[in-house]
Amino acid sequence: MAKTLLCCPIMVDEPALALRDAAQARASGADLVEYRIDRLFNGEGDDEGQEAVLRLVADSPLPCIVTCRSSDEGGEYDGDDSARVSLIEALGTAEHPPKYIDFEAAAYERSANLRQKVNLAIEHEHQVRDVSTGLILSAHDFHSRPANLFALLASMRSHDAAKVIKLAFRARSIRDNLEIFDILRERDRPTIVLGMGEHGLMSRVLAPKFGGFLTFASLSEQGGTAPGQPTIAELRGRYRFDAITESTKVYGVIGDPVAHSISPDVHNAGFELVGHDAVYLPLRIDAGWEPFKATLLSLRAYEALDFRGASVTIPHKENLLRVAIEQAAAGEKWEISPVAFGAGAANTLAVRDDGTRFVDNTDALALKSLLREALPDGLEGVPIVVLGAGGVARGACAALLEEGARVTVCNRTTERAERLRDELREKLADAPGSIEVGAWDNRHALGAQAWINGTSIGMSGGGAEGESPLDFDRIQTTEDAVVLDTVYAPRRTPLLARAEEMGLRTIDGVSVFVRQAIAQSVLWTGDSESLSGLHALFTRVSEEVLASET
Ligand code: NAP
Repeated sequence: MAKTLLCCPIMVDEPALALRDAAQARASGADLVEYRIDRLFNGEGDDEGQEAVLRLVADSPLPCIVTCRSSDEGGEYDGDDSARVSLIEALGTAEHPPKYIDFEAAAYERSANLRQKVNLAIEHEHQVRDVSTGLILSAHDFHSRPANLFALLASMRSHDAAKVIKLAFRARSIRDNLEIFDILRERDRPTIVLGMGEHGLMSRVLAPKFGGFLTFASLSEQGGTAPGQPTIAELRGRYRFDAITESTKVYGVIGDPVAHSISPDVHNAGFELVGHDAVYLPLRIDAGWEPFKATLLSLRAYEALDFRGASVTIPHKENLLRVAIEQAAAGEKWEISPVAFGAGAANTLAVRDDGTRFVDNTDALALKSLLREALPDGLEGVPIVVLGAGGVARGACAALLEEGARVTVCNRTTERAERLRDELREKLADAPGSIEVGAWDNRHALGAQAWINGTSIGMSGGGAEGESPLDFDRIQTTEDAVVLDTVYAPRRTPLLARAEEMGLRTIDGVSVFVRQAIAQSVLWTGDSESLSGLHALFTRVSEEVLASET
């Protein structure tokens, strides 16, 4: 399969600046550039504009596509088509022609006369002139998936003169990417199909897996020419674009929102470290049981994708467990770890080589193992207060019950804590530990050996940023108590800062995150030899990403 090219789009205002950007794109690893000249060329009679475009192409440090995008398809060109076609004729027959010219299928199909003129300027099977520029025939829909997608495609494919076919439309959900991959797999010539918007990222990153002719990536976040376009640094760095091939396995973080998740940075770096042929993507699925189930099952069913696992976060942790329970009941090969079952929530899906889907709760595993290290005599009979009754607190309580701890759970909304207690008592009836509910207002009076913050109090950007869930002037605790905060942004929360001042031992949310991410990585890659390397790498990457966000 031919290598998928990396193309950097450059909106040209000043040719000199565009050439500087093109040189930077080349240095950053782009294979070609697309000069968007719709601001440079004003149509009929703009000889100066035409001359500037010809010079730009002649001086380009990389092979290029020239595109004068009409306002009908998201560009800024408002002149008439015949002027654009004259420009194409000049470019195609120039001393230094561009590698490709992009022209919209809608304009190409509008007039036989213009079509004939375009065909005289480009290279194709029946060409008699000595020209070398290829035609990219394109169609765009910035709002949705075109209702007539397949008719559009058939019509574009009917034009033999088109060297490359390009379709770009706004992906409405993750599932639109699967249709994009179908089109790529059934291509009859070099083809570009890209999803725009947040949901389309998958099609941009995975173009090499499905034989896409090229993918676009900008120099900077501001330099993109379509919504959802990654930067070259993101594509080649975070998503390891150069390593993606047909055999690359696919993983991702499923939740809503996921755009700012640090997991893609962490896990892609981990795959690189252990040499796992895989890529990890943000996969946003709208809240709700139906979208989650439908999307997860269609990702799994699409064999060519080789979807091997996911981290699952708010609001889908309960949904993952539910899918596993339902599918297992229907006779499919799903396994659920006891701690995920007990917690009523799972954050990890791993698809084994034999096709079995395994769901686990690595948040719970991480909390348990960190506390075990801090309290080497074990957790049996140890009084532990868990603050919060959400997803993380559930996992913590389930894991601690299995370790035999005496857990008291306190939540602002007491009924939620009571529900959690009742469910855990039922589901983990054989676990050696115990669980009680404490009143939120009385939390400081509960003596404990370990305190776990499972609320979002202290989280930057949350409703209680800068606050602490505990007031250490009122707390009754032993000197050797441990305070664990699951909040990882900021790393040193007000709770941990105060606990340190009191001389207590602390465990921060980054340590929890890193520990649970290592557990996921081992489940996915099967590599348990690299634990210390993963620990150092995941800690460094998490710290870097969090620092860049503050
Ligand atoms: P969740 O299910 O939404 O639960 C949030 C909990 O916080 C609920 O118990 C809620 O109480 C409580 N809460 C929120 N604001 C509060 C306030 N102002 N006062 C008192 N209680 C408040 O969230 P989650 O998934 O459990 O996540 C909780 C925290 O863990 C988040 O900060 C998240 O970033 C962090 N986390 C860390 C990791 C890691 O690896 N380190 C992993 C996952 C999550 P009510 O029930 O009364 O609303």
